[in-house]
Amino acid sequence: MGLNTEVLKYFNKVTEDPGQEARRWKEETGGKVLGFLLTDVPEELIHAAGFLPFGIYGGEKGMSLADAHLQNWTCSYVRSCLALSLGGRLDFLDGLVIPQRCDATRMVMGIWNNQKPLSFMNNFRPPRQVERPSAKRYYLGELKRFKKELEEYRGLKIADDELKKSIQLYNSNRTLLLKLFDLHRQDSSLLSSRELYNIIRASMIIPREKLKGLLIRLLDTLNYKSPQKTDQKIKIFISGTFLEPLEIADYIEESGGTIVGDDLKNGFRYINGNIPEEGDLLQNLAEGQLRKIPSASFDNSINPRRNFLVNAVQEKRADGFLLLHLKYCEPENFDYYDIQQVLKKAGIPVQKIETEFGDTSLGQLRTRVQAFLEMLGGVELV
Ligand code: SF4
Repeated sequence: MGLNTEVLKYFNKVTEDPGQEARRWKEETGGKVLGFLLTDVPEELIHAAGFLPFGIYGGEKGMSLADAHLQNWTCSYVRSCLALSLGGRLDFLDGLVIPQRCDATRMVMGIWNNQKPLSFMNNFRPPRQVERPSAKRYYLGELKRFKKELEEYRGLKIADDELKKSIQLYNSNRTLLLKLFDLHRQDSSLLSSRELYNIIRASMIIPREKLKGLLIRLLDTLNYKSPQKTDQKIKIFISGTFLEPLEIADYIEESGGTIVGDDLKNGFRYINGNIPEEGDLLQNLAEGQLRKIPSASFDNSINPRRNFLVNAVQEKRADGFLLLHLKYCEPENFDYYDIQQVLKKAGIPVQKIETEFGDTSLGQLRTRVQAFLEMLGGVELV
């Protein structure tokens, strides 16, 4: 078995059973695991305090456990995360951080706290209107509050050099993940779309020092092979909240396509945006959040997301745009129409597909992805 395959298998194992990785880390270090809903939480601060930041990804099974607490029109990501907890599948968590970005995230903390209280439960509130002059001041205050509460929980202040080391580690990992993204975009035979997004998912779970080693090993073997050709496949840009289920990546590839860019929470939004390592580190973290690529949850009156998407599609020379509509995601719901209109005006073929954590009908999803790819000149599948 090649080294490349070994590392990829490890990433698969982690995403199949994320709890195992967290439990092992707890046994080895005696440390505490703080779960967070994806994404936009300052993981660097959690890491600097010595805790393991653990990205909670929704599960496929047992969603009905959440039905007694949340209406079935609440977004399936939040419902499935709560269901994981109620089903005992997150029992290794010591704490929970929920970034506030929509009604669903606002309401779930109270229910979670009632049903499965943990020793550290924290609502984190990034600014919603990131271009307001007051956003940076506000966000700095929120970071200071969060840092203080982490310190109280830890019983010790977070030293500047601890935070600096964490920022450096996160920057290294983001840089390595971006390199993987670029390699995939140049030649998807080196690393498939599914493998790439699975690695990004695992990167929110694996202890970050270990992650760095794994990414370096993987890149060493891929760089050794190096892209032999520019991909001749149909280039697809995906947008929305999450690439979920991951099978979507398979359906794109089996129809002759490949993913060349995205603005997803479990994609480019997560791995992009290094933080300066000198100067006022909290200020750097605040500016980093405000500089992130646009998202439906962090918007402003001039809606830069539309322009960002058109430019990104053109820059990546994408042939088509797949809009993944996570059912009942309220911030995204408000953006879809505008995005579709602006893309159509720019002459970019666009297809909207409804997705869901849990009971997605894979057959239907596959047919819709195939039909779009066929329309773009892809492989006709029987
Ligand atoms: S932003 Fe959308 S997907 Fe994320 S928690 Fe809110 S409703 Fe769910």
